[in-house]
Amino acid sequence: MKMACSSLSVSVQFKTILLLVCVVVSVSASAIEQTQTQTQREFDYFALALQWPGTFCQRTRYCCSSNACCRRSNAPTEFTIHGLWPDYNDGSWPACCTRSNFDEKLISTLHDDLEKYWPSLSCGSPSTCHGGKGSFWAHEWEKHGTCSFPVIRDEYNYFLTGLSVYFKYNVTQVLEDAGYIPSNTEKYPLGGIVSAIENAFHATPKLVCSKGSVEELHLCFYKDFKPRDCVVGSSRLNDMVSSKSSCPRYVSLPAYVSLGLDRVKAPFHWMPDIVLKGLGSKYVL
Ligand code: 5GP
Repeated sequence: MKMACSSLSVSVQFKTILLLVCVVVSVSASAIEQTQTQTQREFDYFALALQWPGTFCQRTRYCCSSNACCRRSNAPTEFTIHGLWPDYNDGSWPACCTRSNFDEKLISTLHDDLEKYWPSLSCGSPSTCHGGKGSFWAHEWEKHGTCSFPVIRDEYNYFLTGLSVYFKYNVTQVLEDAGYIPSNTEKYPLGGIVSAIENAFHATPKLVCSKGSVEELHLCFYKDFKPRDCVVGSSRLNDMVSSKSSCPRYVSLPAYVSLGLDRVKAPFHWMPDIVLKGLGSKYVL
């Protein structure tokens, strides 16, 4: 638009009209952007989306320092956090609600815990909200975190809350206690996994599968972080079985298989071994 406005050689009168049009167009463009930001209504509930590394890491084709699947013996073997998502009851969600760009310095005190419990399981640089690319954390904050207002008001509290909810509702432990342990040979009844979570947290989770393996498990919460059902409706298990990213009635929970060096096509950087202490008391909801 700038080029078109400046390069035309026309009469002064026409130039003036053109300039006016340019101003009106750019003002209304920013007005539309603002309206879009402002019209995202407040969300209804939170979903804590967890991912299962044993399934996700099977897709790793090359390694990089940001991909926790590449940590071999230090790779995660429990559910890790994908994101804390503000959602609407109708199945949609708000996204990119403010212009608050991710700033890693703001979460430096949480860094080690995030590396361990909220790592990226991919080497890609996801898009951020305003035309850029960033880390997995930048993506999660800008796309989802900025929409969690007024319950969560800033980046630090977004990640702190995610970790706190994760530690309070330990899905991996609940499944292990119920006998659902990582295995590359066993298949487990989907209904059994759902029941184990329901018995522990009194709310129904949502499961997402990939080729018959559990890839994600979502726990849902009211805005005061009391557990609630993720799927609203009568046939919850049927919904999970019939939807597109659906799970079969028997699912696997694959064990993490260390990536052999023969599969590594890019320069390989080891991540430092992160030692975490005293987490139990650090995150209290
Ligand atoms: P979301 O599902 O949160 O809207 O988008 C996730 C984005 O982050 C995708 O662009 C995906 O490629 C990227 N990404 C980076 N690391 C991970 C990861 O560990 N898990 C998932 N699900 N996405 C990741």
